[in-house]
Amino acid sequence: MSKVYFAGLRADRQSQNVPSKIRRLFEEAGLGSTFGNEDLVAVKTHFGEPGSTTFLRPQFVGAVVDMIRQGGGKPFLTDSNTLYLGGRSNAVDHLIAAVRHGYTYPVIDAPAIIADGLLGKDEVEVEVDLKHCRTVKFGAAAHHASSILVVSHFKGHAMTGFGGALKNLGMGFGSRAGKLEMHKLAHPAVDEDRCTGCGICAQSCPQSAIDVDKKAVIDTERCTGCGECWVACPCDAIGPQDPQSLIDIQEKIVEYCYGILEGKKGRVGYMTFVVDVTPHCDCPGWSDLPVVPDIGILASLDPVAIDQAAADLVNRAGGLEGTQLSHHLAPGEDKIRALVDVDWTAQLRYAEELGLGSRKYELIEL
Ligand code: SF4
Ligand code: SF4
Repeated sequence: MSKVYFAGLRADRQSQNVPSKIRRLFEEAGLGSTFGNEDLVAVKTHFGEPGSTTFLRPQFVGAVVDMIRQGGGKPFLTDSNTLYLGGRSNAVDHLIAAVRHGYTYPVIDAPAIIADGLLGKDEVEVEVDLKHCRTVKFGAAAHHASSILVVSHFKGHAMTGFGGALKNLGMGFGSRAGKLEMHKLAHPAVDEDRCTGCGICAQSCPQSAIDVDKKAVIDTERCTGCGECWVACPCDAIGPQDPQSLIDIQEKIVEYCYGILEGKKGRVGYMTFVVDVTPHCDCPGWSDLPVVPDIGILASLDPVAIDQAAADLVNRAGGLEGTQLSHHLAPGEDKIRALVDVDWTAQLRYAEELGLGSRKYELIEL
């Protein structure tokens, strides 16, 4: 059974502030054991798409960076470029987005380096020979770093149900070619009965793959399966052509994690913030209201256990009125499944099967 350390967010004195909690979690979970003196430590995070406002606060990530520095490591902030042509699809735009969101020296004592370079082509290819992927392709900086600290924002996700540590690591580090491979089965389909022809999906499509003439029509040749349109549709009229594709994409993400983690045994740690749990991830250029109250912070050496624990905490919470979950209020109901009709446990089951961690965990509250 893996250990997952948890700190809630109640505080009534300075010693209980969030940076103090991050420091204690870092120590108790043994995250300092994942790197040595002078080691280059990749702090994998998500800087937030321009326009979103619920991405991880840089002050949180800054407290993790401070702990790495105190432990003798050399941290750098990192993420790979996006597949879709938004505000983070090349290293220049990506770094500008990071700076505008506060990921910069006055706030965080570490430089930002885009893991897959200027155009998302600086990748390494690692052979995994698994069910979906023969090889995985991900940002070279992730491969060359001595250690990785995966600092994640737990929230909903249109394709995978939720985005936590596994998704941050596997999809997040995927290079452009890697992300394309993970997404390529997830082509969307339009439900004509629901489509009102409003055109919002066409405006959100980075590939200009949607034409709207009374109803939306998707050009499957141009579509990369990025999922932006189904997040944007206000009528819930866009979804996967094949529901199995949402299981396959979760399993591909796990195979990417497998490849990224190869050769890094004992050199990767995880911290997850279960705050601002929005229905969608931090990739759209907007943020909806969080669907449950802020819950807390988790730390572990096990990516499966930390994701399972975060999902359990969210599902145990009550849904918040006036949000996308207001019709699913009861504590104990599956909030994630209520947001997206997908079996989100597929990623955890497959990750456990591949030996990446355990779904059984002991939650140790500080
Ligand atoms: S956003 Fe939804 S409702 Fe509007 S045109 Fe696209 S599919 Fe139809
Ligand atoms: S049609 Fe939808 S899934 Fe395909 S590229 Fe456009 S926004 Fe992405």
